[in-house]
Amino acid sequence: MSDCLFCKIAAGEIPAKIVYENENVLAFNDVNPQAPFHILIIPKVHIATINDIDKSNSSVVSELYLAAKLIAKENGFAQEGYRVVMNCNKLAGQTVYHIHLHMLAQRALSWPPG
Ligand code: 5GP
Ligand code: ZN
Repeated sequence: MSDCLFCKIAAGEIPAKIVYENENVLAFNDVNPQAPFHILIIPKVHIATINDIDKSNSSVVSELYLAAKLIAKENGFAQEGYRVVMNCNKLAGQTVYHIHLHMLAQRALSWPPG
């Protein structure tokens, strides 16, 4: 998607602080962090929302979680705990229409979220 912000980050056209990358997944610091550790984990392929996941592209979704698990271990908070969350569409507060897991850590997180 030529006009998608996260496709541009995945293509290296817009800079981001990369914390993890493999063939299918990229993780980078959120520009407006809501926790001491707040990254976004995205598929390199464009998928606009959760509603656009289907059998043809769903394998990368598990890769987002595998990346989260690895990143948690590498950064030393796997046991302490962390949150991953994906917003879908307007009422949930999705603002970038390329799916992304928010990964928040290194502070206590309340539930339910606001
Ligand atoms: P959403 O609201 O769609 O769930 O999350 C979008 C996230 O993308 C927000 O947390 C926002 O701070 C982050 N974001 C928006 N624009 C940029 C950008 O240009 N670079 C980075 N690294 N993060 C961004
Ligand atoms: Zn995209």
